[in-house]
Amino acid sequence: MKVRCPSCGRLYSSIIPPTCSCGEPLKVSYDYESVDVSPWRKRKPGVWRYRELLPGVEQIISLKEGGTPLLRAKLGEELGFNVFIKDETRNPTGSFRDRLTTVAVSYGLSHARNGFVVASNGNAAASLAAYAARAGRPAYAVVPKLVEQGKLNQIVAFGAKLIRYGESVDEGISYAEGLADGKGLYNVTPESNLIGLEGQKTLAFELWEELNPTHVLVPTGSGSNLYGIYKGFVELREIGVIEEIPRLVAVQAERCSPIASEVLGVEPRVEPTKALGLYVKNPVMKELALEAIRESGGTAVMVGEDELDLGQRLLAGEGVFAEYASAVVVPALLKLAEEGYFERDDRIALIATSSGLKGHYSEARERFSVGGTKLDILRLLGERVMYGYEIWEALEKPLKYQAVYQHLRELESLGLIEESHRKGRRIYYRLTEKGRRFLETLSE
Ligand SMILES: [Zn+2]
Repeated sequence: MKVRCPSCGRLYSSIIPPTCSCGEPLKVSYDYESVDVSPWRKRKPGVWRYRELLPGVEQIISLKEGGTPLLRAKLGEELGFNVFIKDETRNPTGSFRDRLTTVAVSYGLSHARNGFVVASNGNAAASLAAYAARAGRPAYAVVPKLVEQGKLNQIVAFGAKLIRYGESVDEGISYAEGLADGKGLYNVTPESNLIGLEGQKTLAFELWEELNPTHVLVPTGSGSNLYGIYKGFVELREIGVIEEIPRLVAVQAERCSPIASEVLGVEPRVEPTKALGLYVKNPVMKELALEAIRESGGTAVMVGEDELDLGQRLLAGEGVFAEYASAVVVPALLKLAEEGYFERDDRIALIATSSGLKGHYSEARERFSVGGTKLDILRLLGERVMYGYEIWEALEKPLKYQAVYQHLRELESLGLIEESHRKGRRIYYRLTEKGRRFLETLSE
């Protein structure tokens, strides 16, 4: 393994710490001329099968990650293309991040006496929690407010320290860096430490061995998986086993599209999406992700919120239960097929990154965790316009009158209710359009 600064060219003997003295993240490469991939075929499936192109480690911390099934999609027969699903939900903690974690944890083990830390949308955090448990070291998981319940359950079950920070993962990245410095933790956040991409890229090696795809559709939030896959294919080209890199297609949610919008030349949006794993507002790896799309001759697709359920259902029809952030690849495939993007002999791989068992995020439960009084107020106001005292009586709760007013003020500041009219000193409240929609999503 060679460690080099892509900016100033300085060479290092290891990628600890992960940044150059000039501040740039260090990159990993190998002596590609001397790499022999023929032993790969004789080894068991999994990330460490590819050790000629992985960093050397003293001890491997593994839960048998990688080697995930590649399934022929029935959907492809209907469309008239060769479509395959790379089912990454079958990794040990149910997501593609286990590839990253096994390498990052094994590599950083000797520098993680006090433990590991990661900032994550949830999957990498759940994964680190498991691998740190396996390694017998503490883990700190910095996850945002918006995260699926199942991921939190995993983090807690594996005994990691859970830190909720920021609305999306963006804010957590520098927080985790501070924590790593302060507590002497080994930071495996992909944005802060490129070592994990060495594991992430094995997805490309498996795709090459099993399919040699012409196109790979990748759900894209931070861009680290997309770039990892790209790096894998570039290395296969360097070694000389492939001539061309497959076209890489970044799939983002319409509501959060900082990378796709740049490729497609439209205004970016950075709002929360139901595909929470893709909610990254300001991806640190944006330039690398754009490089992967450009250099592979790929493109980007944006998927609407209303297409997420369809995507999940169609994947389920193949026998794969994936989270929304993974299901985006299906509507993206349909769009590209309709536009005539593919040709008959193309071999298209869809990356199903993470399991649907990790669950949905419930905004209602998160925001209104305190006894649900606010929800009750919303329901009452959903029936008719009411004033404060009336609401207090109707609630039939052992609650001070002032407390009801406090709830009303907070609901107003959230934009869920508004003043309807006044009669004398009485202020009547009603639901806003946002409040009504909010109640509707709850009752679904
Ligand atoms: Zn440098």
